[in-house]
Amino acid sequence: MLNFELYNPTNLIFGKGQIEKLSTLVPKNAKILLAYGGGSIFKNGIYDQVINNLKGFEIVEFGGIEPNPRFETLMKAVEVIKTEKIDFILAVGGGSVIDGVKFISGAVNFEGNPIDILQKRILIKENALPFGTVLTLPATGSEMNSGYVVTIEATQEKLSSGGSALFPQFSICDPTVISSLPKRQIENGVVDAYTHVMEQYLTYPTDAFLQDRIAEGILQTLIEVGPGVVKNPTDYTLASNFMWSCTMALNGLIQKGVPSDWATHMIGHELTALYEIDHARTLAIIGPSLYTVMFETKKGKLAQYGRRVFNLTGSDEEVAKEAINKTVEFFHTMGMDTKLSQYTEDYSKTADFIVNRFDERGWKGLGENQLVTLDKVKSIVELSY
Ligand code: NAP
Ligand code: FE
Repeated sequence: MLNFELYNPTNLIFGKGQIEKLSTLVPKNAKILLAYGGGSIFKNGIYDQVINNLKGFEIVEFGGIEPNPRFETLMKAVEVIKTEKIDFILAVGGGSVIDGVKFISGAVNFEGNPIDILQKRILIKENALPFGTVLTLPATGSEMNSGYVVTIEATQEKLSSGGSALFPQFSICDPTVISSLPKRQIENGVVDAYTHVMEQYLTYPTDAFLQDRIAEGILQTLIEVGPGVVKNPTDYTLASNFMWSCTMALNGLIQKGVPSDWATHMIGHELTALYEIDHARTLAIIGPSLYTVMFETKKGKLAQYGRRVFNLTGSDEEVAKEAINKTVEFFHTMGMDTKLSQYTEDYSKTADFIVNRFDERGWKGLGENQLVTLDKVKSIVELSY
């Protein structure tokens, strides 16, 4: 097992009605920036719940943070924070709003050009503005981690970064928020969380037995509850298990002691930047192709995954291959199209474009052992057409 430090200061408050604790969680006398997305919170009652539980606090609202949040929009929030002298941000939304708020929190006191935080991947380790979250969409785990992904509109780049100062102080996770989610977003949540686990589980060297078992447990739980929660999002048992699985998939725990891959995410981000394909759907496109192209290096772990998660039998080779098929089948069950050509007709130059971009950024090898070299990236993207 690799050496590790486990640091996660987020106070996670989980369950039905937990929003009632909001006023006790926000620092006393804080002037709050209430940050939200395109307005779903007004339709599903979450805005009212937040306002009712923040009586007595001075609140400034900042809406319009888009899915795949834009640097340009977030910088407007930074200005508001400075002019209004805000002391605390409350992110109310899904991964996009929470990620956006993380960037804002780091950018407010950043000395220098904030675009560098993204383009030079500067980690924010101090001087961040404190924030908390009310999660409205289980998927990303952003409610309990310190990473984020932001798109620069001007250059069509979707870039990830983070830093130890960017953990939410608290996150309120009430599974009943799932009942207002469009089916597509629930499907996305299941597949995003599933792929988060795969990025941390299907890696080498592999000798962290407990992390493997936890990872397999999350995968099995997502397979168990995913289709049901799409059909019946008001079922509290399904909703709560889905929500907790998403948080556990990316709150750092299963990452400890193991190398992590993230190549599927890195390539997937390019598809969102180029074609605005939903994040999770880019993972459903790229993941299976990556497992296929990287088959020889991932075969043993794919076989373990096939045996333990899908109860497959046979040789390593057979089980590993069938495990990829089962993964695709599960993504189909979750409503995903798994080929790029199903999302855009304009795909033929995608592989070359992405390879050039990675080359320009100096990304010569992705994955836990940098084995996903640029020729592999090309093959992965081409196989996904
Ligand atoms: P999202 O982009 O935050 O939200 C998707 C849509 O769902 C939005 O239109 C939003 O509407 C709507 N929505 C949210 N909650 C709702 C509710 N309760 N009822 C009805 N509609 C609701 O989706 P996401 O999948 O959570 O986040 C995706 C982003 O996170 C991507 O940019 C991805 O790259 C990033 N990501 C981050 C991490 C991380 O660790 N930080 C990991 C993986 C992915 P409104 O805008 O109107 O609210
Ligand atoms: Fe993700």
